[in-house]
Amino acid sequence: MRSPGVLSVEDVEDPALPEGGVLLRVKACAVCGTDIKMLEAGHRDLTYPRVPGHEVTGEVLNAGSSGLRKGDLFQVWPGSACKACSLCRAGMDHLCPQVRIMGFNTDGGMAELLAVDDPSRLVPIGDSDPVLLTLAEPLACCINAQSKLGVGNGDSVLILGGGPMGCLNAFLARHRGADTIMLSEPRTERLWPVPKGLFDHVSEPKGDDVRDMVMQATAGRGADVIIPCTPNVRLDRKMFELLSPGGRLCVFSGPRHEDSPVPIDVRDVHYRELMVVGSYGNASGHGREAVGLLRKGADLSWLFTGRYPLDEVRQAFAHASGRTGQKAVVIL
Ligand SMILES: [Zn+2]
Ligand SMILES: [Zn+2]
Repeated sequence: MRSPGVLSVEDVEDPALPEGGVLLRVKACAVCGTDIKMLEAGHRDLTYPRVPGHEVTGEVLNAGSSGLRKGDLFQVWPGSACKACSLCRAGMDHLCPQVRIMGFNTDGGMAELLAVDDPSRLVPIGDSDPVLLTLAEPLACCINAQSKLGVGNGDSVLILGGGPMGCLNAFLARHRGADTIMLSEPRTERLWPVPKGLFDHVSEPKGDDVRDMVMQATAGRGADVIIPCTPNVRLDRKMFELLSPGGRLCVFSGPRHEDSPVPIDVRDVHYRELMVVGSYGNASGHGREAVGLLRKGADLSWLFTGRYPLDEVRQAFAHASGRTGQKAVVIL
């Protein structure tokens, strides 16, 4: 990625083995909605030129002095944090003021080789499928959000946007015991690979359809939890009205600049005890939890509707941005 909108496949110099770190041979790197956003519009944390990719698995090519074994497979936590500040010590290393994220501040996984400065960022995946395990990173983002939201037994959950993040959030909410999972998605044709039962109710957002779906499915109470997995929604008063008393909403998908200052009715927040939480990325602990969940045999490979070799990375981006399927992955 050389500048906004410019993505090309080029031969570059091999990365050097970092002191105390390892060199990985990349096995798979999935395309994230954020990668698309970076290509189309840049990103707060992005500097150019940059090898993108933060949803990465790979095998150890050069273990250096790490003590790891050549050939072992790992998922890579995208952050590199200081490990010493109060946020790092509290398990919120993704919020470390010094955190650097691969694919944003440092080169990422859409390459044959990836240098990892700190072996503690590597989570072993054993003999699990390295393509499936690229989902650990986006799933970890969902774990971050849903642990803050306290999604659990009996919850009704409204998900906005039926792309990979919407599907992963639905999968996780079900795993955590949610009862009713509702989806609002304007392009229901993209749901073709989604297994029956992942969503209990699906609505195309026209007029009051979403409101009608939520109120019908919850006997007029409203949703316990709302997770917007698309930037194409405004988190305004109308959205808050879809929450049940005690309802929780996560600012999960990065909102657009023009949609960020929104008036909310704080009396509504007060009297109905609503909760708004933010989540951005995931801490290394969420990453380990996600790898554990996927290694237990979660069947999510249907999410990969586009598989590409490295020299077709632009087609992989086009697959992801076309929003006609689900996840695109580059396989090496
Ligand atoms: Zn991502
Ligand atoms: Zn720190």
